[in-house]
Amino acid sequence: MASSGAHPEADNQQALEQIAGELRGASTATVLCHVFPDADTLGSGLAVAIALKRWGVPVQVSFGEPLGLPEVFSELPHADLIVSPDAVATEADVVIAVDSGSADRLGVLADRMSGARTSIVIDHHRSNTRFGSVNYVDPSADSTSMLIARLYDCLGETIDSDVAHCLYAGLVTDTGSFRWCGPEAHLLAARLIGTGIDAPAITRALLDTHPFGRLAMLSAVLGEAQLVPEAAEGRGLVYTVVRVQDMAGLPEDERETVVDIVRTTGEAEVAAVLKQLGPGRWSVSLRSKQSVDVAKVAKALGGGGHARSAGFTADDDTVEHIVASIVRELG
Ligand code: MN
Repeated sequence: MASSGAHPEADNQQALEQIAGELRGASTATVLCHVFPDADTLGSGLAVAIALKRWGVPVQVSFGEPLGLPEVFSELPHADLIVSPDAVATEADVVIAVDSGSADRLGVLADRMSGARTSIVIDHHRSNTRFGSVNYVDPSADSTSMLIARLYDCLGETIDSDVAHCLYAGLVTDTGSFRWCGPEAHLLAARLIGTGIDAPAITRALLDTHPFGRLAMLSAVLGEAQLVPEAAEGRGLVYTVVRVQDMAGLPEDERETVVDIVRTTGEAEVAAVLKQLGPGRWSVSLRSKQSVDVAKVAKALGGGGHARSAGFTADDDTVEHIVASIVRELG
């Protein structure tokens, strides 16, 4: 729905109530998480699915890529609701996309949005394209799971320990263990922990557990890091490259942890990690600390994201050219 723009908060509250009504009236539902899912999209998706399951609504949860659920997420409650993309019904009464800024982020499942009587988007990415028939988008929210907590309250549904586990998984990861978030995130965390979940264990499983082989990967990848002090008007860029061979024998999601180390470089406001997906195919993660809007850089290069965390992909490209493009867009 187009927003009038005059009362964005009121419009958003109306969207939330509309979504609650659509979910209450759903006869079948599909919940779509973004490709290469993280804990926020899966935790949010499972939490929505748990409510539907409580009411006896047949519900499937899925994501376009990869084919299986990464091992790190296997302890999320009701993970058995997750099905492989080819098993997702082509049509459902209500389809809900969570934590996905655009239809592209749904990969091969993007077409399921049009196979729904009502398509719903719940997200916190500023670059969200409002690709649903009802959209609840709040870029000021620290995670999509925070929006799902608001949905539960709007529905009058109890957040029990299973739901809390799912929501906490999204909240603790998207806030970098509560390093970048506002008061609502802390208040929600207190409420979720109050249900009896083992928050330290959830955090340890999601953020602080890695295979031994990661140490050798980091050794190779971090050893190649480069500093470009003059980039971003002298605020500095640090970048490194994760090649396919660096990832041999490691789960895909270990690649996503590299940028969290690279971005701690004191001499650089901006961090970039170029992740090789195949010959000439790259996925680039961008992070900034406080003064550079990397969503703008990502958008100019065909991607999107948040001001402090964004990304884009490049096909048929080289490291030198991608780095030059980033430096140019940083100004
Ligand atoms: Mn998120």
